[in-house]
Amino acid sequence: MTTTFPFDAAFPTDFDTICTSAGRSGADGDPLVGPLVQSTTFCRDGIASAATHAYSRVSNPTVAQLEATLGAIEGAPPAIAFGTGLAAETALFLALLRQGDHIVCGQHVYGGTSRLLRELFAHFGVETTFVNSTKVPDVAAAMRANTKLVFVETPANPTLEITDIEAVARVTHAAGALLAVDNTFLTGVLQQPLALGADLSVYSTTKFIEGHSVALGGAIVTRDAALAERIRFIRKCTGNIQAPFNAWLTLQGIRTLPLRLRQQSASAAQVAEFLADHPAVSRACYPMLAEPAQRKLADRQHLGAHGAVVAFEIVGGLEAAKVFLASLSLCRLVEHVGSVETLVTHSASMTHADVPPEQRRRAGVNDGLVRLSVGLESPDAIIADLRAALDAALQRSAGRACGEVASCR
Ligand SMILES: *Cc1c(COP(=O)(O)O)cnc(C)c1O
Repeated sequence: MTTTFPFDAAFPTDFDTICTSAGRSGADGDPLVGPLVQSTTFCRDGIASAATHAYSRVSNPTVAQLEATLGAIEGAPPAIAFGTGLAAETALFLALLRQGDHIVCGQHVYGGTSRLLRELFAHFGVETTFVNSTKVPDVAAAMRANTKLVFVETPANPTLEITDIEAVARVTHAAGALLAVDNTFLTGVLQQPLALGADLSVYSTTKFIEGHSVALGGAIVTRDAALAERIRFIRKCTGNIQAPFNAWLTLQGIRTLPLRLRQQSASAAQVAEFLADHPAVSRACYPMLAEPAQRKLADRQHLGAHGAVVAFEIVGGLEAAKVFLASLSLCRLVEHVGSVETLVTHSASMTHADVPPEQRRRAGVNDGLVRLSVGLESPDAIIADLRAALDAALQRSAGRACGEVASCR
């Protein structure tokens, strides 16, 4: 199966071929795998040299290969690659915001994004209003004369509610602002923010794009050449370009990105169905389990699959979550998504620990919430591991309930 780009006939994207060919030229005598150029600096034949690369803080051939590939996936000019996802977001905010400006940010964004705005940019006179971006009228109501940027993440982290990118883009542009979408969870292979009207796609390539948990990275993709130039300028000024070795590792990961996302999404759908039916689970979050309007939006906005991330709430809250996590043997407890292994995160104490409890609750991150990033193990093995740990949690809370009631003994 080839995932093709459905929105714009002029831009049929064959992700499998773009990703498999990433960084390969095929010319006579060329290496099959594009080279890793670690050199910090590049020779010139004179002061008028027109050489493409001069110094690796500004640009580097291996990083440029990655940037061309990330751009191609979204029908855009080369992306701008950074050392981490948060470095990319920092550059984005520095490029677009000045003292006195205002940003409207989805309340479901990555915890680090929210911390960056609340604890850093706030001190430089940039004010943020957090809104539920799945409710488009809430976004519209938050817009002010000095709003320069709307920043959303969809599906929501970690509850997977869907924000309507097209509708939010309309509201954003009507107010004269720009829309950036954190597309880390689905990547351009399963969701195309720019085609839906967003101005910028923002990535932590650390997650699905690299895919093997061996290289941090971030990227910004835009079709606006002047904006891209501005972001490159910020990167040059602040020095947070992607490291060549990490760019090279990320290019190797990209070769299997569409394949991984399709397989991991299929397994995630199975896992979500299993969770929804388990008595120790009070709520399972996955786009196909959502209410009809959200399901319809997800089918329209996602390119044939809904990604590898599933979240669920365990009956018995924090105590049950602890037993569940301690009882897993295949799934790994880490603060991460997007690798080939199945990963488990306790959002309230890990990714969202720095988010104020009230904001955490509004984002649906209760103490019993567990996030899964479904990997490439067999779905049967993943489900067996989850079942054993959920059964253990259920038994423990039943035991505790009995301990409190004399007639149980
Ligand atoms: C991890 C993550 C980030 C931050 O990326 P780093 O590479 O860890 O700096 C931003 N957004 C989302 C959705 C993430 O999952």
